[in-house]
Amino acid sequence: MTPAQPAHHERDTPPGPDVEVLVVGAGITGIYQLYRALEAGLSAQLVEAGGGVGGTWYWNRYPGARFDSESYTYGYLFSEELFDEWEWTEHFAGQPEIERYLNHVVDRFDLRRHMRFGAAVTAALYDEASGSWTVTVADGDDIRARFVVAATGVLSVPYFPDVPGREDFEGESYHTGLWPTEPVDFAGKRVAVIGTGSSGVQLVPVIVPEVASLTVYQRTANWCTPLNNAPITPEEQARLRAEFEAIRDTLNTSAAGFLHEPYDRASTDDPEQERQAYFEKMWNSPGFAKLISHYTDLMVDPAANAEWCEFLAAKVRSMVADTGTAERLIPRDHRFAEKRPPFVQGYYEAFNDPKVTLVDLKETPILRVRPEGIETADGTEEFDVIVWATGFDFGTGALLRMGIRGRDGLALAEHWADGPRTFLGIQATGFPNLFLPGGPHAAAGNNPRYNGDQVDFVTEVIAYARDHGYDTIEAGADAEERWTSMVDRNASKSNFGEISYYFGTNIPGKPRKYLLNSGGRPKLFTEIAKVRDGGFRAFRMARTGDLTETSA
Ligand SMILES: Cc1cc2nc3c(=O)[nH]c(=O)nc-3n(C[C@H](O)[C@H](O)[C@H](O)COP(=O)(O)OP(=O)(O)OC[C@H]3O[C@@H](n4cnc5c(N)ncnc54)[C@H](O)[C@@H]3O)c2cc1C
Repeated sequence: MTPAQPAHHERDTPPGPDVEVLVVGAGITGIYQLYRALEAGLSAQLVEAGGGVGGTWYWNRYPGARFDSESYTYGYLFSEELFDEWEWTEHFAGQPEIERYLNHVVDRFDLRRHMRFGAAVTAALYDEASGSWTVTVADGDDIRARFVVAATGVLSVPYFPDVPGREDFEGESYHTGLWPTEPVDFAGKRVAVIGTGSSGVQLVPVIVPEVASLTVYQRTANWCTPLNNAPITPEEQARLRAEFEAIRDTLNTSAAGFLHEPYDRASTDDPEQERQAYFEKMWNSPGFAKLISHYTDLMVDPAANAEWCEFLAAKVRSMVADTGTAERLIPRDHRFAEKRPPFVQGYYEAFNDPKVTLVDLKETPILRVRPEGIETADGTEEFDVIVWATGFDFGTGALLRMGIRGRDGLALAEHWADGPRTFLGIQATGFPNLFLPGGPHAAAGNNPRYNGDQVDFVTEVIAYARDHGYDTIEAGADAEERWTSMVDRNASKSNFGEISYYFGTNIPGKPRKYLLNSGGRPKLFTEIAKVRDGGFRAFRMARTGDLTETSA
């Protein structure tokens, strides 16, 4: 007797995926996604291009790399025990401590056995018939996953400007975002630092004591203000523990994911003398308080912003002895916080060391890198080390390099040719079962808080689909259009101007589109609530092989 033929759909069903959720990236977002997926009872694996845990905090190990979010506001909040047992030493911890923390979390929650390092994803192809992704990983076999969560970061693709001769340099050459795991020895060396964004200004003061000479090449001066870091005292540690719930609730709901309280006065409410006193208070406040707790009109009234900038310029002049250098360090082309404001410790003062020279690239552009150093119109200066602190291909860089192809072979690069299109920053139409937390249209503020909101929601959507018997999830085209036009429409209202890398401006040829969520966290919360109320209908959910939509 011949065995009964399997039903047609059984014969055609390809073997099931290797894993339900494949997370790409072992930064703070990917680690959290792995934790949440496992907690939800899904099988999950994580692949990471780097050699260890940490993402940003694995790659950016340059001297001086540190938080400008308060340490305890940046760390995870999902476990009170974790919050209690980890003692941050400083309000703004340095990279080694952050990397230790993230490794601690991975081991504490037994996540490492689900992770593979040195595993760069080079292609991800959606297969319509099986409703799954085939992911090609540089270190081995393809992985078939029902869901792919690309937690690949917004600042994870270092950018080198196209300077002729860059490869010809015969000394040591580093990018701050690709720093080697072995310490770099600057002792007695002639060093060039190119770039004065958030990374360059952290690095400069830290290496000054070691170097023989340091030349800082500045394209754009930034409005740097003091970080105002301090050790966390035992009393503060105790208070943090005692107030965990209140801290968590504030961080989980505040607009930018910080503890800093918004101020309730506009600069015009105060007479000149009180304004100056408040400016001084802001100058002495920690990190992003200078933005969040500032006068309410700082970012909406150009006059208020200009007065604060005058205050800052006077500070620079008071800190930098050489008048010409001080004037070059004062921005002329943007208001405060129109670009991401860097926070510093001893940056301006570093220029008082006779070993340190500032080169303004607007006056004397780099003509080329030579084997022995850097040539400008003023001649060639010889160096032993060049540090490129030249930033990242922000927002879309990593995703567009991952070889993603969705339904009908649609390349993500094609879908996003004019800039990113997403729903809630978590999905793009045409790419079912692919999620993008912490990608473009996401964070504007304390990153783990926003990215965590997205991870929580991604997990909720996947669990909803599973519980209702669906195995494909795709943001509807109308939902994607609504969110994307909201982002584009509100972009002009954001603090950040087109001078900022948040518009992709630092990368030649990149579409000038706003890459954050210009509606902010409140908009994300509102929209997530609407999706829930609408029975998740913003997503199209279906059963594999069931080509008619079965979504609620
Ligand atoms: C120097 C520096 C300081 C910062 N300080 C702060 C701060 O104080 N506060 C704040 O809120 N934000 C800060 N940020 C922003 C920071 O990027 C985020 O806070 C956060 O680290 C993002 O986490 P993530 O997990 O989303 O991405 P990442 O930490 O960037 O991790 C993404 C990971 O994905 C991996 N990956 C990418 N593509 C692939 C691929 N194809 N295959 C396999 N793996 C891949 C990368 O190797 C990387 O490890 C800082 C950024 C930098 C660069």
